[in-house]
This record gives sequence, structure tokens and C-alpha cells, in this order.
Amino acid sequence: MITDNTKWQVDRFDDIKVLQFKVPNFAELSLSQKSLIYYLSQASLWGRDILADQNFKYNLQIRALLEKIVTIYIGDKELEDFVELEKYLKKVWFANGIHHHYSGDKFKAAFSATFFKEQALAAGATSEEVDMFCSIIFISDLYSTRCNHNDKDDMIVSSANNYYSGVTQAEVEEFYRDMASKGDKVRPVSYGLNSRLVKDGSEIKELTYKVGGLYGSEIEKIVYYLKKALPFCECELQCSSVEALIEYYISGDLQTFDKYSTLWVQDVESHIDFINGFIEVYGDPLGYKGSWEASVNFKDIEATKRTDIISRNAQWFEDNSPIDDIYKKSEVKGVTAKVIIVATIAGDCYPATPIGINLPNSDWIRKEHGSKSVTIQNITAAYNAASLGSGFAEEFTFSKESLDIAKEYGLLAGDLHTDLHECLGHGSGQLAEGVVGDELKNHGSTLEEARADLFALYYMGDEKIVELGIAPNMNIMRAAYDNFIFNGLIGQLTRIERGKTLVEAHMRDRQLIAAWCYEKGKDSNVISFEKRDGNSYVVVNDYLKLKELFGELLCEIQRIKSTGDFEAGKALVENYGVQIDNILHAEVLNRYAKLNLAPYSGFVNPRYIPTFDGENIVSVDIEYCNNYSEQMFYYSANYSINNNI
Ligand code: ZN
Repeated sequence: MITDNTKWQVDRFDDIKVLQFKVPNFAELSLSQKSLIYYLSQASLWGRDILADQNFKYNLQIRALLEKIVTIYIGDKELEDFVELEKYLKKVWFANGIHHHYSGDKFKAAFSATFFKEQALAAGATSEEVDMFCSIIFISDLYSTRCNHNDKDDMIVSSANNYYSGVTQAEVEEFYRDMASKGDKVRPVSYGLNSRLVKDGSEIKELTYKVGGLYGSEIEKIVYYLKKALPFCECELQCSSVEALIEYYISGDLQTFDKYSTLWVQDVESHIDFINGFIEVYGDPLGYKGSWEASVNFKDIEATKRTDIISRNAQWFEDNSPIDDIYKKSEVKGVTAKVIIVATIAGDCYPATPIGINLPNSDWIRKEHGSKSVTIQNITAAYNAASLGSGFAEEFTFSKESLDIAKEYGLLAGDLHTDLHECLGHGSGQLAEGVVGDELKNHGSTLEEARADLFALYYMGDEKIVELGIAPNMNIMRAAYDNFIFNGLIGQLTRIERGKTLVEAHMRDRQLIAAWCYEKGKDSNVISFEKRDGNSYVVVNDYLKLKELFGELLCEIQRIKSTGDFEAGKALVENYGVQIDNILHAEVLNRYAKLNLAPYSGFVNPRYIPTFDGENIVSVDIEYCNNYSEQMFYYSANYSINNNI
């Protein structure tokens, strides 16, 4: 066990720490597998600027200007203005833009406008540019949020992201309603996923991300490296999936994307796997537009034995789920789950990265071909190693017994929760006839995450997991329930600024579940708040009753999803998942501040360095990076086409 967390940490600023992840077993891969990882990694790194530009239309210009200022600055580097500007740049890199990667709020600049102006002019910006950037950076009401989920506003007009231009929310909704009504009802494509919707005069049209279209130059590079990867593919299916992806990047045709996703989800044999494309829709309040992301990874064979057991028993879990029988899948298809080691993360997976992934997102593909689900072992291991000895658990855990259980079972409970959430939770259940899947609109992501979490939580309390040999004993349930309820009611508040409400889907999901169970179990004291020395703690008193409550809520949220009951879904989210108790929040932030920890983490990638003999790769070495800024400057210099102001 590694207890020295400084070895994992390469940088720290504001609310963020940057860690290294290790890539165990890389040396044991064959040369062909290493070559595949190298080329797929190159194809991943070339998408970095796409995401930054999707997040906000001036991100790339601002990043380039700040990088230039920091590079050519010859003044006093201890000067507060410079220190703050450099920190701001680190945050911009981390968030792939000027809005916080998690909350979506625009960063507040702590350097002076005067200093910025001087330096920007010295770096070659024109005075018009300087004025424009000054307004963007310093006027707090301007572009204040990247993705506004508040449905009292026009969520499109008031969001700073770059997925739409000149259109209102009503126009967007009408545009895609119309498109969907003309399209295939059984196998609908993911409308709008890979485009920007713009108004040109009175005409509303899509500009597609593809070779020759938006981000054409970056996508050409991605295609170039995907072609290089082709000869190293591990099986026919993988080869065909990469070919389909290339075809899709060239045509921008979403039907081809579905063809690619179908091939990709069927390829379960390849040791090396990857994600590369416009995938998750969290960045668009209406959930149409996919942010660009990539990951290159390979199977952790030992840990995959655990998820194999879960997959093989998928039907049992579905049949015994506490939801209404009519919403159960009579035949669970192709739930493939594996534990992976990531080799490279990019786009919306970098530097902040998920610990589990379940794709594809398309409902009909999931229904007909199943989905691939992964738990990312080397990322959770890095988190765990970095958090040991941080003092966080000690500060917020009420009893010594719970603390001991968390220490012994916490890592496994977390991984198992992710396995169940990703490989069974999201894939479980089915829609009623006539329900398409987008009825829950801006609350869809939160409710979907809650559904997957509840599925996992429900079964973390079932003896079946011990019977199957994936958990040693039912202390796993205690570790999982303590942690989830704590996180939903107290823990995640450490990541929210005073006075704000919850916005991000996973955060809303966690509080929704925990607060709902707290309220429903109040009479029988299932969960209680305790006080000691003026500090608040949350305590689970009755684990089995809590399991029942998880089941009840799962049943209701499944009904909401299956029938597309928007009003009921909205009420759940708004009543339990958004508002924060300000007094508790202030207390938690104070206690947390004393620990001097960073609530958010992200990672630097290792570098893969090939040696060539003519055209052929003869070896690929891995080199770990221990300097965050160096990696960011390196990426801007080597994976950017427009990196100038
Ligand atoms: Zn999820």
C-alpha cells in the first residue's frame, strides 16, 4: 500500500490537485499492442482544442494569450498579479476553458485588469482584443455560466457554451422535434450530437463537426492517427469499428456513428480499447450536443474477474430489481463489463476524469446490442492513495467503527458500486411503448444517474454479492451506505461555493437520493444528523431499512423514466436535489478549509515514446510526467492548430 500521497501529486492550485496515474502492466504488452496504444493516444490528444472551443467560443484565444504572457514575462515572478495570472492559466487548462470544469461558473480573476492589459499588449494582442478579453474575464455577469440548467431562463441563450449561436431555446426545441418527427422512430440517431446549431439570417441550420466542416483540421489529424492505428487492431470487429469511426469523421453522418457504436460495443475480445468522439451531453442544457472526449485503455485481467461475475448474473439482478415488472427487461442483452487501466485520457476526460464509463448512450443500440461498461482501476487506485492520511475521513466520520469499516472496505465498496452502477444500473429497465427517452429534458441526466446509483446501492445491501464471491461480507454494505449518505448530505458540499445551489447532474443525483431517504426514514430514524463539539455528522442507523428506501425510490424513478413523467421527475430533482442548507454548508466549508485539501482532482498523462526503424515502430517506452504546466504547454505546442491569438 502506498501511503506517501506526495508521490502521486504533481501540482496543487485553488480547489484542484493534479495527480499521476500509473499504467501497471504496460511493459508486458506486445509491441503491436503498445503501437496501437501509441497511435490511439495521438488520435486522442488531437481533440483537446475541440473541447475547449465547444466549452466557450473565446477559450482558445484566451488560453493562447495567457500562455504567451506567462512564457515571455520577464518581470518579478513573485508579484501577486503574476502569481494569480499563472494560477488562472492553470485553471483554464484544467477546465478546458474559463468556466469551472464541474460547476460551470466563470472563474473570478484575482489579478488586476491593469496588469493584464499591460501584459496582453506586450504579448502582441491588439488593443481591441485586449478590451474584449478584459470584458470577458473581468465583467462577472458576462458569460457567467457555461451551461445554465435553470429552466426559468432561456437555457440556451444564457449558457456560454459554443453549441448554439443566435438561436433561442424554443427554436432549438422546435428544430430537433421537427427533425425527430421526420426520422426513424425505431432506431433514431442522436440528433444534433456532432454539430453547432446556428441562425443565419432567418435560416436555422447545423454546422457539422467533420473533415472539411467545423474542427475539420483537428479531425483530419484524428483521422490520420486512426488510420495509423488500423494495422495494429486486435480483431476484425475492432478493425471495422475504427474504419467506421473514420468514415463518420469524414462524413459527419450520425447513422455512421451508430454503425461505429454498434461495432464497437460488440468488440469485447480486444485487450486494448478506446473511446474517441462526441459522446456525453452534460455540457448542453438540452442534452443534444456531445462534448468531444477520448480514452485509450486496456483490460485489467485480474480485476475483470469481478465484473465478469456481475455480467454473467445480469439477468438475476434485473429479475430481482425492486421495480415494476412491466419495466424490467425480459432479456438483458450483452452487458459486458470490465475493469480497465487507462493509458491516455483526453478531451472531456482530461485532466478531470470519470472513474466509470458506460457506452454507447444511444437507447436503441443499448437495447439491441447492449452496452460496454468499465470501471477504471488505476484512477480509483490513484484517488485512494492520494486521499490516505488526508484527515478528511477522520474529520467527518462520527464513529470509530464506521471509520474502521471505511478504511478496510472503502476502496472495494467504491469499485463495486461503480461496477454495478455502470454495468447493470444504466443498462437496466426499459421504456414503455411510445416513450422515446428524451422526455425528462433538463432533468434527464440527474434522474438517469440517480437510477443507476440506486440500482447499485440496492444490491450493495443484498447478500447475493457475498454469495457470488464479489464481496467478502456485508460490511461492504455498511461502507457503501455510510459513504453514499455522507457524500450526498455533507461530503459533496465541500466542493460547492457558499451561496450556490447544486447544478451538476451527479451531485444533484446524490443529494436527491440521500435527502429523500433521510426524509422518508425520519419517523423510524433510518438516518440521523448528530452533533459533537458543535460539529455535524450524518449517521446511518438502520442499514436494512435504508436498503428498502433505496428500492422504493428506484421503483419510482424507473417509473418516471419508463413513462417519461417529466413533472414527477422535475419535482423530485427540485425538492431534493438542488437546494442546500446554508448553515450546514457554512459549517462544512469551515471544517473543510482547516484540512487544507483540494476537493477536485485531475491527472496528467504519461507519454508514449516510440522508436522507429524507418516506417516501423520497434519499441514504445512510457514516460511519467511530473510537471503539470510542462504537459499543458507541450500539448498546446504540439496538438494545436490555432494556438495563437
Ligand atoms: Zn452514470
